Amino acid sequence: MSRPQDCVVVGASFAGLACAQALARAGLSVTILEKKADAGEKLHTTGIIVKDAIDQVALLDGLPSELVHRITGVRLYAPNLRHVDLAAPGYYFLATDTPEVMRWLARRTEEAGARIAWKTPFSGATRIQSGFEVGELGTARYLVGADGPRSAVARSLGLGQNDRHLFGIEHEYAGIEIAEPQKLHCFIDRRIAPGYIAWAVAGPRVLQVGLAHRVGRERQPAAEAIQSFVDKLAPIIDVRGASPAAVRAGMIPCGGIVRPVAAPRTLLVGDAAGMVSPLTAGGIHTALKHGLAAGHAIADYLAGRRDDPATWFVDSYPRFRMKRVLRFLFDRFQSDLAFDLLLKTKAVRAAASVVYFHRKGVFDPAKPDQGLPASDSRATKA
Ligand SMILES: Cc1cc2nc3c(=O)[nH]c(=O)nc-3n(C[C@H](O)[C@H](O)[C@H](O)COP(=O)(O)OP(=O)(O)OC[C@H]3O[C@@H](n4cnc5c(N)ncnc54)[C@H](O)[C@@H]3O)c2cc1C
Repeated sequence: MSRPQDCVVVGASFAGLACAQALARAGLSVTILEKKADAGEKLHTTGIIVKDAIDQVALLDGLPSELVHRITGVRLYAPNLRHVDLAAPGYYFLATDTPEVMRWLARRTEEAGARIAWKTPFSGATRIQSGFEVGELGTARYLVGADGPRSAVARSLGLGQNDRHLFGIEHEYAGIEIAEPQKLHCFIDRRIAPGYIAWAVAGPRVLQVGLAHRVGRERQPAAEAIQSFVDKLAPIIDVRGASPAAVRAGMIPCGGIVRPVAAPRTLLVGDAAGMVSPLTAGGIHTALKHGLAAGHAIADYLAGRRDDPATWFVDSYPRFRMKRVLRFLFDRFQSDLAFDLLLKTKAVRAAASVVYFHRKGVFDPAKPDQGLPASDSRATKA
């Protein structure tokens, strides 16, 4: 930074790019500090974007169609691999070519006028009268921590930090085609993925096979768990002979919004703020939505139109009250036997639809094959 900045944003991912784009479009000077060399490298997300994000976040308008693959339903497997198909009219998810989506978002943010300082890790900031001294980089009137689950900004400024996590790990496979590629395949299994699920999803470029487990409740290290999952998955999608082209892995906050999440002239957003659904572990929608809104709120503050968003804007962050209760119950009472016995019941299917389709869900009664053993559907190698 050669001159004082209106805002420094730490982290060039969903939350940081959305925030910086709003600030730049408002005409403010904004620099993003990003420790990676490129937005698409070392990803730690499956990158599935829910329909609500497409509907609500205008930033995604114009997302190139070749970077996404539309997923129109969920196939949910009990531990014994029997399954049900779930769908909601008009609802979909987008599986993405996530590295390219990140690069597209970064390009759009730079085109809006923000500067991204790649390979520039944030290492600390000192409060001054009119904002912050950000190391050797100069001064900023506002500082945003969008630097993920283990936020250095939160540490440096004494803000709250995430203390409950899931750990997710995912293998990418090139050149493998699966039956039912328009479905998100989700697997409940307490041995392999305690506290969450395992999954397989066909992206636009690669097949993604992953799982997440609650940190502290795992029965085996993640690398072993994913091997167990690959073996279990084989009758449905066989990737045993293939080597993963890449591995994505990372922590997922699941304890709700951290406290404090803001202080004068600084706020956290996205995973840094704990803004991830404790139940579904989805955080892209909230990171984009609240990142963008934070940018607008900071722009208003710096233009003298509103009070510091640290005092009011952060009240709009999701509290996840019900989802935290459900997370508590799932952590303690997850039972493979119960899912084996009850998966096909109306109550479980309705509850799963609520989780996946955000209350809009109805299960799809038209499917004649619902509940058949999943071994009926087989993967084919391309
Ligand atoms: C395996 C896995 C699968 C997931 N799948 C999904 C999914 O399919 N859909 C979904 O909605 N959510 C998913 N999530 C959650 C989702 O990825 C996150 O909620 C989302 O990425 C949050 O975005 P963010 O911008 O807040 O933070 P992040 O994406 O974590 O980005 C933080 C950025 O800050 C940078 N950074 C960190 N520290 C510093 C520093 N000191 N200096 C400079 N830069 C720094 C990082 O390099 C990174 O670019 C998944 C998470 C995991 C781990």
